[in-house]
Amino acid sequence: MNTTKTLKPILVLKFGGATLADSGKIRMAAGRVAALAKSHSVIVAVSAMGQTTNELIELAHEISAQPLRREMDMLLSVGERISMSLLSMALNDLGCPAISFTGSQAGILTDDSHVNALITEIKPFRVEEALAAEKVVIIAGFQGVSPRTKEVTTLGRGGTDTTAVALAAHFKAVRCDILKDVAGIYTADPKIVPDARPLKKLNYEVLLEMTFWGAKVLHYRSVELAKHKNVPLYIGPASDVLSDGTLIQKGMLMFESIKVLSINSHETVLRCLGQQNSLALGLSALNSECERGQIGVPQILSSTLRLDTPAKSESKTKTQVEFLLTGPAETLAAFEKILCRHAEFRIDPEKLASVSLTCSGATSPLLVQNVLSVLETNGISSRCVLLSAMSVNLILSHDDRHRAIKALHKLVEEIA
Ligand code: ASP
Ligand code: MG
Repeated sequence: MNTTKTLKPILVLKFGGATLADSGKIRMAAGRVAALAKSHSVIVAVSAMGQTTNELIELAHEISAQPLRREMDMLLSVGERISMSLLSMALNDLGCPAISFTGSQAGILTDDSHVNALITEIKPFRVEEALAAEKVVIIAGFQGVSPRTKEVTTLGRGGTDTTAVALAAHFKAVRCDILKDVAGIYTADPKIVPDARPLKKLNYEVLLEMTFWGAKVLHYRSVELAKHKNVPLYIGPASDVLSDGTLIQKGMLMFESIKVLSINSHETVLRCLGQQNSLALGLSALNSECERGQIGVPQILSSTLRLDTPAKSESKTKTQVEFLLTGPAETLAAFEKILCRHAEFRIDPEKLASVSLTCSGATSPLLVQNVLSVLETNGISSRCVLLSAMSVNLILSHDDRHRAIKALHKLVEEIA
């Protein structure tokens, strides 16, 4: 079916959980959608209301010490179904015809994995039909179905962003608006740095770097998809139609300038040590422990093979593998529980965090030196510096995290 002939320009909106936290907020969201539906064909991807997903996870752990991943998907996918149906009711009450679909009904096809499934294809026949009938289509975010197993799957925490971008890419939407309870993407977490500023424009590369290193503002995979499919993104407050928020599109590279754009951080980083004598063995042991424990594998920030020079009395060089890992709090908690039962692994009891400076261009030795001297002046020592093309990433004590973010924010430059 050719959807583009008869339709108005297509716009995809994503409402985050905080913007749908109660009935008043759902009605406000409906008002915004109804206004846009006059000039656009609108597809909406919704998150679960407020803290629903966290509450469901807690409930699962009250019932079972190790809930099966399949059942977690059955449980968590409910959260988004609640918000999609309520938003549809609110829209219909406003005289704006709307219909809600689960990920499965919307034709969001994924691989077979549970809890962290990847979208493989979109076959949104029912969405196309509903749009052609001039209805607003509301889709439960963060979920799909595996065409092979016929099981409901979820896309990982924060996955509604990825649902929204995948739909925007498929329908060649004019834009994908990610609506939140904050004004856009900031130079740092405003709760930690009160004078953090919203950034008006970014390119995909910078945003990828920010989200990989802890910016919670978007699901990492959604940025990757938006970049790959060239979907213009807008991140702004759900409450204000006129605000300019943050626009993300191609280009906007500042020639040969190394400017620090923002400070991002992973609140918890685990240092996991294994006795295996190769990284491949260590990683495969970690993967099978996660599989056995029914949890997703945490995000790996670095993997190192440590060779300890033997003391004179010893004959063999000792090897150890070391992984720095992060992820959602519940994944890390489950991971620690699983590994403390494992003879070959241990987790460093020291609480670590990461703090990153994301830059507009390639990083330089001078910048690293600057960063380290700012830390030193503030009496903070970094355990390790990981460099990538566009960021300087520090691993430090969790106790120093807020102070480091505040001190390093002084290096963030104003971008015209
Ligand atoms: N409700 C899910 C979560 O909280 C998915 C999402 O909000 O994107 O992670
Ligand atoms: Mg949520």
